[in-house]
Amino acid sequence: MPSTDPRYANSRVAFATAKRLMPGGVNSPARAFGAVGGEPLFIDHAEGAYLYDVDGNRYIDYIGSWGPMILGHAYPAVVQGVQQAVARGASFGAPTEAESELAQLIIEMVPSIERVRLVSSGTEAAMSAIRLARGYTGRDRIIKFAGNYHGHVDSLLVAAGSSAATLGQPNSPGVTAGTAADTLVLPYNDPAALAQAFAKYGNEIAAVAFEPVCGNMGVIVPSAEFLAALQTIPRTHGALLLCDEVMTGFRLAPGGAQERLGIEPDLTTLGKIVGGGLPVGAYGGKSEVMAHVLPEGPVFQAGTLSGNPLATAAGAATLRALRETNPYPRLEAIGQRFAEGLAAAAQAAGVPHVVQSIGSMVTLFFHKGPVRSWDDAAQCDTALFGRFFWAMLDRGVYLPCSQYEACFLSAAHSDADLDHTISAAHEALAEAV
Ligand code: PLP
Repeated sequence: MPSTDPRYANSRVAFATAKRLMPGGVNSPARAFGAVGGEPLFIDHAEGAYLYDVDGNRYIDYIGSWGPMILGHAYPAVVQGVQQAVARGASFGAPTEAESELAQLIIEMVPSIERVRLVSSGTEAAMSAIRLARGYTGRDRIIKFAGNYHGHVDSLLVAAGSSAATLGQPNSPGVTAGTAADTLVLPYNDPAALAQAFAKYGNEIAAVAFEPVCGNMGVIVPSAEFLAALQTIPRTHGALLLCDEVMTGFRLAPGGAQERLGIEPDLTTLGKIVGGGLPVGAYGGKSEVMAHVLPEGPVFQAGTLSGNPLATAAGAATLRALRETNPYPRLEAIGQRFAEGLAAAAQAAGVPHVVQSIGSMVTLFFHKGPVRSWDDAAQCDTALFGRFFWAMLDRGVYLPCSQYEACFLSAAHSDADLDHTISAAHEALAEAV
């Protein structure tokens, strides 16, 4: 935000306090707005499609807590579910029927999940699923794709190599070279690189982890050839296919990207929507693989707050509401309208761009031609994105604060919200170029 703008005075004071107390003033780095060069807004409350900051400004929200809020903020059934749960006690560290209810909903909705374990974040789900894949196969190596994010699990916090398989280099101080060495990083959307990696390391690879639609370098929908390679090559070599649906699960269809794109993974990780805004992650898959988790099998995984009653109540209320209200046709329609509106605004402003979207996930890339991998994404005009971001915020539209994120639409976004957003985009882009 501009350092003297009186509209953001309370956020500035709140950020100064937070910076003294927490690294960067935040509890997750993207929130600091570093990628767009400014100070973050501090949020007071949210309702439906709107965020309200501590200065009383209202914004149309296209972050939705980075994905979970598909029904909109403070959705009544979710609020009520959590209120009722907390009144019965916040945590017992003992089994509850509510956990089975959420597990049942997940199994019914996600095609490939036969049994599931609840954890407390997408990171924890990825960490546990990787351990399970290694324990099940007795192999050490894993494959991930450059630009895919699976949380801050040490062995997955690796991104190297652009056009060929390279042994992973750590992406953060604190991740040891030894941890990263078992991670092979391949370019996304490149079936040949996958085939080469398996030709070389085939019988050492435990699992291939992938985002079935990438949201973490902006929205990239995989090619049919890449998806076909993912479904055939690992299996031929006895490796598991680990589909990370933390972002896409319950968003692109009731059964996530795997339902929509016809993917049949061995293991799936979930997060975000599955907790309805409270901390829930999950991993699940084939019964035969899940039977290796303690206490049925030897692979350890535990959590004091796993299956926590409040989180479970929010997740179950969200999934029930998705089944009862079926917001998916409307999410498709508004996602398409939003994408077309952004493209028209960029076209009118005469800037090189491509809008990539699927359902309610949309990214306007300032890039000439399609973005298929991290190599393409790295060419985007991030400075223009930063100017566009601030010009939109100025007009009451809260976009993700990085070129490399997806905008998330929710069932609460109205036609009037979209009208406002698209006309704001025309003005903002005219100003930002
Ligand atoms: N996997 C994907 C695809 C994600 O987008 C994220 C978070 O953005 C994660 C895993 C990690 O989830 P969490 O932030 O809940 O740990």
